[in-house]
Amino acid sequence: MGVHQNRQSKSRVRKRRAMWKLTTPNLVECPQCHKKNLQHTICASCGFYKGKEMISKGE
Ligand SMILES: [Zn+2]
Repeated sequence: MGVHQNRQSKSRVRKRRAMWKLTTPNLVECPQCHKKNLQHTICASCGFYKGKEMISKGE
């Protein structure tokens, strides 16, 4: 079996795969209720996204 030239060591691969937990998720403040939400998602508390109400609270 051949071993390719740019083979990464087990520890190097494991270090890379562990990195995602260290980076903080991209949080943005909602323009409506000013709560922190994940970027590019509908606001969890008021249901607004891109200036429109996407989820109505069943008035
Ligand atoms: Zn909101």
